[in-house]
Amino acid sequence: MIHLANRIQLVSESITLAVSAKANAMKKAGIDVVGFGAGEPDFDTPAFIKDAAKLALDKGQTKYTPTPCLPDLKAAIAKKFNDENNLPYKPENITTGAGGKHCLYMAFMAVLNPGDEVILLSPYWVSYPEQVKLAGGVNKIVQGEQRNGFKITPQQLADAITPKTKVLVLNSPSNPAGHAYTPAELKALADVVVKHPNLIVFSDEIYEKLVYDGLQFVSFATLHPQLFDQTLTFNCHSKTFAMTGWRVGYVGGPKPVIDAINKLQSQMTSHITSFTQMPAVVALTDPRGKESVDAMRAEFEKRGRHMHQRLADLPNVTCVKPQGAFYCFPNVSAYFGRTVGTTQITDAVSFSAALLESHHVAVVPGNDSGFDTHVRLSFATSMQQIDKGLDRLADFLKKL
Ligand code: PMP
Ligand code: GLU
Repeated sequence: MIHLANRIQLVSESITLAVSAKANAMKKAGIDVVGFGAGEPDFDTPAFIKDAAKLALDKGQTKYTPTPCLPDLKAAIAKKFNDENNLPYKPENITTGAGGKHCLYMAFMAVLNPGDEVILLSPYWVSYPEQVKLAGGVNKIVQGEQRNGFKITPQQLADAITPKTKVLVLNSPSNPAGHAYTPAELKALADVVVKHPNLIVFSDEIYEKLVYDGLQFVSFATLHPQLFDQTLTFNCHSKTFAMTGWRVGYVGGPKPVIDAINKLQSQMTSHITSFTQMPAVVALTDPRGKESVDAMRAEFEKRGRHMHQRLADLPNVTCVKPQGAFYCFPNVSAYFGRTVGTTQITDAVSFSAALLESHHVAVVPGNDSGFDTHVRLSFATSMQQIDKGLDRLADFLKKL
């Protein structure tokens, strides 16, 4: 009889990955599923990045590398932070991990002691609370509200900070609601943070390039001189360059934390895959990188506007207009209490299950993001799929 570790009982499986896996399995079985589940660009990785990977393999870049990564990649990331984000990180302030997710996990492991509190702003990305629990931390949720576009106020933040608070996680633009703070709104949060010099901010900036309606992106650590030493800035190639499967993420921050992450990684995965590292440099430094990001961003903006309009047109559905990332997060709770076949819809989980079962549309229930009244639809899919899926959703709601 095998007894698993207690920590496994603490955490749930990633619902975002589970929904994508289920939709893909149904597609494989011949069912015409419209997948709004995966938070993953439908574009292929740009050819010039793939060519750089082929070259890396041909050149024999197949051996162990230093734990943080090859010096060329560290230098390219430091330059990106300096040039694009106005963050004066040096190569020693940088490390990489197997995607943004792994960087965040290692960072929680590096700074949290048992009982330390971590402030999450709801709705939040599903993996934050689970990673915090695995690292022994305690989640403190600050509730966002739809009528404020899900953005919290400086007062809400000030009220949530206790002597036990160790980390504040910020994610703007955000997964799952697509909301993004303006520079002035972020500055108002920064003014609260600087009153607490021992608070560490994890600024998850992986959707920085995907902003809409002319919204200006700013890196949190630039908002006050003190914040540079208080903040870890997370990013990755996954969404920016349509490289989700490559598993390339990176983090910039104070050297002692970066060194701690490297110590951990040296006993864990050693380093990220060797032949992804020079392609990751090319993505950041070749002018075609910027061109492909601009093209994808423009396309996502069109799709996002269209999906939001179609959702807003549905009876009894309300939805904040996304300002970034590639998600809409409508409130569908007006339909709770209705029945499909023998199943009663009581929350976002049963709503999503019934929608998938009866109309073959995959969406992510908001429960694991702190909202059991909302579902997440990704618009990182074609216009045609968006229309097909929204037609089906409209029909599903009509029949409820
Ligand atoms: N942060 C947020 C907010 C995300 O949505 C995701 C998932 N894409 C990640 C981090 C992790 O990204 P990656 O795929 O590089 O691990
Ligand atoms: N982050 C993406 C999403 O939210 C990919 C899946 C995951 O890692 O959670 O859908």
